[in-house]
Amino acid sequence: MIDLANYIDGAWVAATSGQWLDDRAPATGRVIARMARSAEADVDAAVSAARAALSGPWGETTWVQRADMLDAIAAAIEARVDEFARVESEDQGKPVSLARRIDIPRSVANFRFFAGAIRHQEAPCHDMGHSLNYTRRQPVGVCGLITPWNLPLYLLTWKVAPALAMGNTVVAKPSEITPRTATLLAEVLDGVGLPSGVFNLVHGLGAEAGAALTAHPEVDLVSFTGGTSTGRHVAAAAAPAFKKLSLELGGKNPTLVFADADFDAAVAGACRAAFTNQGEICLCGSRILVERSIHDRFVDALVARAGALRVGDPAAADTDLGSLVSQDHRDKVEGYLRLAVEEGGTIRCGGRRPALPAPFDAGAFLEPTVITGLSAGCRTATEEIFGPVVTVHPFDTEEEALAIANSVRYGLASSVWTTDLRRAHRVAAAIRSGMVWVNCWMVRDLRVPYGGMGDSGVGREGGTWSMRFYSEERNICINLG
Ligand code: NAD
Repeated sequence: MIDLANYIDGAWVAATSGQWLDDRAPATGRVIARMARSAEADVDAAVSAARAALSGPWGETTWVQRADMLDAIAAAIEARVDEFARVESEDQGKPVSLARRIDIPRSVANFRFFAGAIRHQEAPCHDMGHSLNYTRRQPVGVCGLITPWNLPLYLLTWKVAPALAMGNTVVAKPSEITPRTATLLAEVLDGVGLPSGVFNLVHGLGAEAGAALTAHPEVDLVSFTGGTSTGRHVAAAAAPAFKKLSLELGGKNPTLVFADADFDAAVAGACRAAFTNQGEICLCGSRILVERSIHDRFVDALVARAGALRVGDPAAADTDLGSLVSQDHRDKVEGYLRLAVEEGGTIRCGGRRPALPAPFDAGAFLEPTVITGLSAGCRTATEEIFGPVVTVHPFDTEEEALAIANSVRYGLASSVWTTDLRRAHRVAAAIRSGMVWVNCWMVRDLRVPYGGMGDSGVGREGGTWSMRFYSEERNICINLG
């Protein structure tokens, strides 16, 4: 049994209550670790340490020193990449090959990217002739960072790296469903010699540790990634104190396939967008809108492709889909499959628990599922399911495709498949989503603005947007007269 203690002020400590929470491996149902069940007192200790660290040696560090520190963190994670990937896969259920290829390298890249970004950053200067304005970026202060279970280390480091780069201190609260790689990250940060209190980790439940962190009066900034309904609580807790706030929330992302698209590339892209990481990525394309003239052929090809995906042991090199993150989550996803049938849908493939040998017979596996025949406005087609489930809908005109794409309250990402250049630009401009991919999906350049519209969130992170969010920008005006 592994104990995941809190990391506060440079020390590993149990929760003050002495209570622990079980952490299960979703692929086997086995308890693999227990984590501190933190509450207000623990959060308070972590925030106090983070506040004190702002005026310690960390407050004196230069950009250059912090960039070197981030590079050292990246190198230290990279040196343990296989261990990180194994642990992420065990804890989350995703294939280890995916964690090895995407989650952990991207976490390394997050630190390297922001090391480079602060080395190369420029400060704006506005010359009035008689006076000169320049912008100073200073730390915001104590950052409360709250992250979900789907890409645990990837999303945590996407916040920690820019927060530290800009000179802040951090209290992180990872998901209680996938706490393990956050602890490995704390080990790494401890090992590279970050001053005590600069990074603090508090494990525990959202309603306890998470809520205490967002409401804490000494937390200056809250960056939250998670579900839309939780985001509402977080926003309500942070708003009265005017904390800087970033909310990266849910999605119900459309994939638009026009008849002029490269058919095979569109099928492969839509399938990848639907089922990567068991469909548990906020960017997954869970609604596929296909021009009617190719709809039936497209569905047949998608069903064949989805049906060929291998579901099973996350540690096996040839596994395409591992386990969903928990039994509870699979129950929720299966509830949507029942709803889809009630709403008149036809399950064209998947929808069942695969027959797997022990110990995976106790896991939370589900076959990739393609559903047709649903109205585009029904609950199955408009609510976030966050599993390996995709609905396919025909459309007749570009206007209709756009109307369906924009008919949900979410607006995170979309992908458009067409060979008509003018259509690509036209549709990309008209879709209501923070990110649009044309003839591709989830191609990520860390310099670009990342974030959603509507129920998918508020604010942008990435590149300059993160650097601005994690800093107070102040104007200094010098009289030259
Ligand atoms: P969740 O909202 O249940 O939990 C996210 C985090 O918030 C966890 O650490 C949880 O403990 C904490 N939390 C829960 N209640 C809280 C409260 N009252 N106050 C403060 N913190 C609280 O989300 P989840 O189920 O872990 O993740 C899945 C969701 O995250 C999906 O909706 C998905 O779309 C979304 N997501 C969005 C993005 C994005 O970039 N937009 C990325 C990944 C996941």
